[in-house]
Amino acid sequence: MTATTETRKFEAEVAQVLHLVTHSLYSHKEIFLRELISNASDACDKLRFESIANPELLAGTGELHIDVSWDKAARTVTIRDNGIGMTRDDVVANIGTIASSGTRRFLEAMSGEQKADARLIGQFGVGFYSAFVVADRVTVLTRHAGAAPEAGVKWESDGRGEYALEAVTLPERGTTVILHLKADEDEFLDGWKLRSLVRKYSDHVAFPIRMPKDAPSSADDAADENAAKADAAPEWETANDASALWTKPKSEISDEDYQAFYKALGHDFNDAAAWTHNRVEGSQSFTTLLYLPSQPPFDLMMGGRDERKGLKLYIKRVFVMDAAEELLPNYLRFVRGVVDADDLPLNVSRELLQHNRQLERIKGACVKRVLDLIEKLARDDADKFAAFYKAFGNTLKEGIVEDPANRERIAKLLRFASTKGEGAAQTVSLDDYVGRMAVGQDTIWYITADGYAAAAGSPQLEAFRAKDIEVLLMFDRIDEWMLGHLHEYAGKSLKNVAKGELPLDAADKAKQEEAAKAAAPLIERLKGLLGDRVGDVRVSARLTDSPSCLALADYEMAPHLARLLREAGQAIPDSKPTLEINPQHPLLQRIEAEADEAKATDLATLLLEQAEIAAGAPLPDPAAFVQRLNRVLLG
Ligand code: ADP
Ligand code: MG
Repeated sequence: MTATTETRKFEAEVAQVLHLVTHSLYSHKEIFLRELISNASDACDKLRFESIANPELLAGTGELHIDVSWDKAARTVTIRDNGIGMTRDDVVANIGTIASSGTRRFLEAMSGEQKADARLIGQFGVGFYSAFVVADRVTVLTRHAGAAPEAGVKWESDGRGEYALEAVTLPERGTTVILHLKADEDEFLDGWKLRSLVRKYSDHVAFPIRMPKDAPSSADDAADENAAKADAAPEWETANDASALWTKPKSEISDEDYQAFYKALGHDFNDAAAWTHNRVEGSQSFTTLLYLPSQPPFDLMMGGRDERKGLKLYIKRVFVMDAAEELLPNYLRFVRGVVDADDLPLNVSRELLQHNRQLERIKGACVKRVLDLIEKLARDDADKFAAFYKAFGNTLKEGIVEDPANRERIAKLLRFASTKGEGAAQTVSLDDYVGRMAVGQDTIWYITADGYAAAAGSPQLEAFRAKDIEVLLMFDRIDEWMLGHLHEYAGKSLKNVAKGELPLDAADKAKQEEAAKAAAPLIERLKGLLGDRVGDVRVSARLTDSPSCLALADYEMAPHLARLLREAGQAIPDSKPTLEINPQHPLLQRIEAEADEAKATDLATLLLEQAEIAAGAPLPDPAAFVQRLNRVLLG
């Protein structure tokens, strides 16, 4: 060791990732090649982009490329690129520490299921560590573009907690990753195997991936032959397609090509559900290739945005940046793909992009394409659409709030359980609902609750069932928020069955008024018994079978949601519930007949509490509730 060698410890989380990755991805170990080639390709992209402002960075080696080679005698596989390279600080920051919060979430998201975890690794920005799945020692030699040969860095580690850093002299810029394979990983010392992995995972990497020509087969004598030739520079041949897929005419691209490109782009193992590939020519020309995944990426529902990757902005074939946020609204963040614009300035910065009118138009086109694509999926392939909707339906709902201009189009794509369906899985669209509304019905009725059972079993639905009016059952957390912004669809208003007055015909109204009059003394008694636990007590038009339910004012938040928000630490103003009763119910008649004031109070309070439970509201004093219930049960 020289005086310049320094040994450092991995950040604790990196060590944890390494341990997990090497012990859990064994059945998908081949992804190491995809991940290292993806890093090499990123490095070439970065250099090409930076060389626009600094052409001298490209000096020296010719075209940007990635070389994959192997050495049977030394038992190594080497991936080399002549991309941007790393400085010593870069190396420490990029492969010794993990700057983003991604790692922690990666650790949380690891499921122990190999296939799922293998998907995560690339999406979390920890792809480099997959090298240690097949290697027990990894050496990185790297020199930043523009730096002097003496400014090279050698990084080496066995992946077990420490790494060594050393200053070295490197004749060329770029990065070489040498994998010293574990004892039982000989299958990767094979040209045919490596070549097939390059084709499988990296065919559409836009830079040439070169491999030694006339590579020895796996026969043993070939190894000696290779060793004998070791001094001679290998003759390289390109092993991948190496073209930007989206620049080809659609007719020349097979479905397999599209899927393979998607998998590399999204670090996914699964096929995309659908894609749309378009070229716009005109005063502003651009190409978009956009995919709908069939499964959600790890961070989608975890609120993560910093890991949003997979929508890449190119300008005239040059990769400029991951620009998902600039190119698509947040509610379409599951989309993967490429946008290649002809007319944006190549030196564009992220700040400029945010206020760029050309980009705004491209963004508008992307949104339109994606909504077209989802509509087409809904129309043509019910099964695929159902799977897509299961994965991304709740994300799409955010668009109702985020994208008012497309509200009606998005609403058309939404699906809900319904009182006319069997179970949570049988869903209907708003168009289905409107299509079978009764003559004269001008409202789309819905209920929100904590879960399917709470919604479907709510006493508030009784009058609607009795009148055969369909009610949509909404029980995702986002629904309540979304509905706050969706007041109308196809000219019909949307209303919560728990809110305000029900639409009653003249006969109903008369009956209702009569019932209210008859129950007036009972109402007064209940108000007295319940005191300040209720805001109001009134006779319900909603109930047929149950004794009581809660009703909400138009402006009031559903109790289950208020509870959730309070639990999440938000200050939600208290409002006293409005109790609605069904005077026909025997329980109400019993309260009316109860002379003992203490017993009547117990009964009245339980009447309120059961309505609160059904509505998902918290009981203010569960112990008191239980005691009360037991008193009543024991008579
Ligand atoms: P990600 O590629 O998602 O950022 P990785 O774990 O694959 O995560 O790589 C970590 C970082 O290491 C990269 O972001 C990059 O900065 C650096 N890196 C890895 N490989 C190379 C390479 N071949 N050339 C330059 N930088 C690299
Ligand atoms: Mg990577």
